[in-house]
Amino acid sequence: MKLYDPWKIINGLIGLFIASTIGCTQLNEMHERKATEAKNRLKKQYVTLARSDAGIQVSDSSVSFESKHYVLIFSEDLQKLKDYDSVDERHGVGHGSLVYMESLYDFVHDIFGFEPGSQDVYGFEPNQKIKIVLHDFYNGSKHQAVTQTQSRTEYQNGGFIKKITGIQMDFPIEMYNQRPVKAHELAHAFTNIYLLPTWFAEGIAVLVEVEYAKGNEHGKVDLYDDLKLDLDGVNAIQGWGGHVGTTFGPLTHWCYNYSYSIVSELKQRYGSQFYPTFFRLVEEDRLHQKLPGKMKDSFLLYYLSQSAGEDLIPFFLDLKFKVSELSKKDILEMIQQMNLTITQ
Ligand SMILES: [Zn+2]
Repeated sequence: MKLYDPWKIINGLIGLFIASTIGCTQLNEMHERKATEAKNRLKKQYVTLARSDAGIQVSDSSVSFESKHYVLIFSEDLQKLKDYDSVDERHGVGHGSLVYMESLYDFVHDIFGFEPGSQDVYGFEPNQKIKIVLHDFYNGSKHQAVTQTQSRTEYQNGGFIKKITGIQMDFPIEMYNQRPVKAHELAHAFTNIYLLPTWFAEGIAVLVEVEYAKGNEHGKVDLYDDLKLDLDGVNAIQGWGGHVGTTFGPLTHWCYNYSYSIVSELKQRYGSQFYPTFFRLVEEDRLHQKLPGKMKDSFLLYYLSQSAGEDLIPFFLDLKFKVSELSKKDILEMIQQMNLTITQ
């Protein structure tokens, strides 16, 4: 039996929250050193990629480009714009940006270890690449970039398994020309697959945006002094719906900063293998392929604790998260129950 899902917009909009004067990043010494090391490593990669031409193939009229992990397309409305109406102009933009995107891909892969194009892990069909479509307007707007993940659910050995069949990123060119936006959205293209809690996925996206693309829209806050609670006394980021949730209003900017601060704190505390190990453990249990909806924070904490080699529940309870201690057996049974409820 096969169930076909429609295109799911798992993740939404960016760019509605541009104006900000806060977001000054405080880097401590160790962090600064690490950032410099990473930068030097990237510089090397970038140079190598540029010299090798990044293996980019270009269509005759420079309307579509293909590199190792991406296909880039100029939509018809964009081809009419003054800066993009000649083959040479499109070639310059398309080629240059794919070199950048390939380098960004390596950076994200290095830190988090995940790879959306991996056939083994995601059931991704062979030769699938991330599709980037550039527009003048997208959905009537010049300020919304959208990443969509297409998946198919199959019934296998008594359970449902999700397979990723495509990832598409749609950018108005005005957004695509901003490097931090590209970095943020690519991080989502990677994490959408895992159905992570919103705050965690956004924290990862902001980390990539700040630390790779030098975005200055967001920065770190103090996890204790800047803690904000909802009316139930629970950390306010737990109820955050991400880009599309507008109800958070003035809290939205804090949500990005606070989420980023947690993701970064864990990376500093547990080292460079912490996130790659976390994602490997999730993949081993095929959690992301079985989950019918977003991952619960308590599921997330189980895997983060496994990767850290210590129980992280006390740390998150200190930050006023509402979470409970679960075993792997609890989690897998709960997911089975959730799937049964959906199919009944
Ligand atoms: Zn985001």
